Amino acid sequence: MALNKTIGTVQERSLGTQVNPFHMLLQQLDLAREHTGIPGGIWEILRRPERALEVSVPITRDDGEIEVLTGYRVQYSSARGPCKGGIRYHAGVTLDEVKALAGWMALKCAVVNIPYGGGKGGIACDPTRFSEREIERITRCYTARILPLIGPKQDIPAPDVNTNASVMNWIVDTASALRGEALPGIVTGKSLELGGALGRREATGRGVMFTTIGVLHRLDIDITNARIAIQGFGNVGSIAAQLLTDQGAKVVGISDVSGGYYCPTGFDINDVLRYVETSPGHLLAGYSVPGMEEITNDELLTLDVDVLIPAALEAQITSRNAADVKAKVIVEGANGPTTPEADLILAANGSVIVPDILANAGGVVCSYFEWVQNIQCFAWEEKETNQRLGRIMQRAIAEVWDLSTERQISLRLAAFVLGVERVAQAISLRGVFL
Ligand code: GLU
Repeated sequence: MALNKTIGTVQERSLGTQVNPFHMLLQQLDLAREHTGIPGGIWEILRRPERALEVSVPITRDDGEIEVLTGYRVQYSSARGPCKGGIRYHAGVTLDEVKALAGWMALKCAVVNIPYGGGKGGIACDPTRFSEREIERITRCYTARILPLIGPKQDIPAPDVNTNASVMNWIVDTASALRGEALPGIVTGKSLELGGALGRREATGRGVMFTTIGVLHRLDIDITNARIAIQGFGNVGSIAAQLLTDQGAKVVGISDVSGGYYCPTGFDINDVLRYVETSPGHLLAGYSVPGMEEITNDELLTLDVDVLIPAALEAQITSRNAADVKAKVIVEGANGPTTPEADLILAANGSVIVPDILANAGGVVCSYFEWVQNIQCFAWEEKETNQRLGRIMQRAIAEVWDLSTERQISLRLAAFVLGVERVAQAISLRGVFL
């Protein structure tokens, strides 16, 4: 595959060092536009979310004080089906971030061709400040306030940064109580006992593994002994690390909010996983093995590795550090980790970027399976889920790769063109209401 593909030119639109994710989405859409024949009117629809809700979330703290947080739910597109996308609890959550994440969900669901639109939610808060009971109260209040928007046929939340099966369970309980009906299909990523799917927790990391292997294979890079660095050791990064190690790769760099760690001979990932199971905040801090050294976040991103997997937050690879990235292949486990400016620099240096809307789609594909099982009241075996996940991911990888080769465009542009054309087609088939 030719590496000097068309990326286009982009204008730096960062706000100081803060990158606005919604501006990033618009830049990416505009770059894709010239490779599609989508008419201007439809394009205007695609550049805006259908609906955005802001809610206040008051909670009574354990000490009796009242604190008021701000939450959001954005429905970017329902053209291809109910809106779908996670909920994150993070201090950096803003309306523009949620809008971008909702837009990326719409494109992601279209790229893997599952019958969903895109949505996303979030609460601006630092969850480490709250007890578990407080997180439950925050979740229940937020659920009550976004309830007019969500439902198994309207908009289906799921876990995202700092949310998990417990948070989903509280959403099921609150929504079912308020609506007076059993609503297991109102969220995905819940506990198995409440209708969760076997394999859902691992699915995003498993999808990252499938895309990494699929792309390395097409680039003629042997996965055995491929050196990998992973930013973020949460649900996505840790599972991807484990599954890629099982395939023979060597994970030499890992990090989380507590710091970065480098081990040239490769980490024993099962040992690291055992450590974070009981460490304070489930963080890597304090982990130590012979030959390991502590490194900064920037040093992790610029390690001399075959594959870099950013699996944390948006805008980690920017115009500031992109020139120093040495990885041949970057597989985006996170949503939006690379800015459009950084994309240009990486491409000029010959790196291949496997875009988020393909690389991390395994989670939402498995969410789709969970929702199907909830609708049918029939649970599948884990083997069936993993096989179907593999088939959908392989198909999407092949479609994006082939489009990229055929049109001589980057994998990101190819994924955006594929996704945006599918959403645009659904909009034009439905027609504009009234
Ligand atoms: N939060 C995940 C994502 O960004 C999963 C969303 C879902 O399963 O709905 O893709």
